[in-house]
Amino acid sequence: MAWNMQMGELQATYVTEDEIWGKMNYFFFSAKTTTTYKYGFFKALLENLYVTTDEGCISFDHLFYDFSKIYWNLVIHHKLWQSNAKNQRSSIQRILEETQEKYSIPCDWRFDRLPEPVQQQVVSAVKREGKKYVIGAFYGDTDGVFYSFHLKEERLAMSLPVLQFMKKYQRLLLNLTNYQLAKFLEKYNVDCTKLLTHVEQVSQRASLEEFRRLLEASVGATCFYCGKTSRKTLHVDHFIPWDYVQSDKLWNFVLACPTCNTKKSNYVPTETQLAALYLQNEKVQQLVRMDYFYGYSEQQLRELYDFATTNGYKVWA
Ligand SMILES: [Zn+2]
Repeated sequence: MAWNMQMGELQATYVTEDEIWGKMNYFFFSAKTTTTYKYGFFKALLENLYVTTDEGCISFDHLFYDFSKIYWNLVIHHKLWQSNAKNQRSSIQRILEETQEKYSIPCDWRFDRLPEPVQQQVVSAVKREGKKYVIGAFYGDTDGVFYSFHLKEERLAMSLPVLQFMKKYQRLLLNLTNYQLAKFLEKYNVDCTKLLTHVEQVSQRASLEEFRRLLEASVGATCFYCGKTSRKTLHVDHFIPWDYVQSDKLWNFVLACPTCNTKKSNYVPTETQLAALYLQNEKVQQLVRMDYFYGYSEQQLRELYDFATTNGYKVWA
């Protein structure tokens, strides 16, 4: 299978877990890797597992927003060299470095701090390269059983058994990806310390302010858990812990007073709180841009909740 194909059909509609592990093993341990593209792309896929349509479609724009964010944070924020050739930057690394230079963006800025028009420029340039070098390559490495795609129509539809598999083993797959990515980077960034920590934090945003504004405007400045109006600033809390979802979706955010937020920590909230979040989301959804709720349904949130607990997260007592 060629990396530069324009479209690819799904090669099997049914695959067993063992077969999928086989493809994963090949991807992690045997596939030819000259840049970190495929790891960045797989991390972006993992961030979008719960924003698919019923047919398993993931939006190209969302996927490449997350890919750009991950890559920006690797290349600019952490200054990590991304290819196995010392004198040849990968094309995406070049795009990001040129953008940084053009707009004199400070090195320590994370992607979400860039002005929105600049973010959009980056995402569309990265998407162009991703369409050339990443989607077909990952499709080939996994023998066409993970997704079907069509570049011109910007369509990517996950295989439903693979989507379930990725949800079921999300935590393991993320840790494996981070480990392999750090291992690759270590070879070409010999002076970097705390490499694995950088890689683990690469999806993190500089600020959740945008989400606070939206929530305060639509549900008011009260703590989701205890109902108190706090005079101190409310925290923006990932309902299903960040540590697990590694993704920032408005429908997974609540406002929490510092006390509740600290107590909740890495726990998954209770069933009653889950029901309350369904109601909050119903309300918020009517007041914000549609894009914030792309792919959201109560069923997806329910599934995320259940998989978080099977992935080892304890319910908040
Ligand atoms: Zn509270």
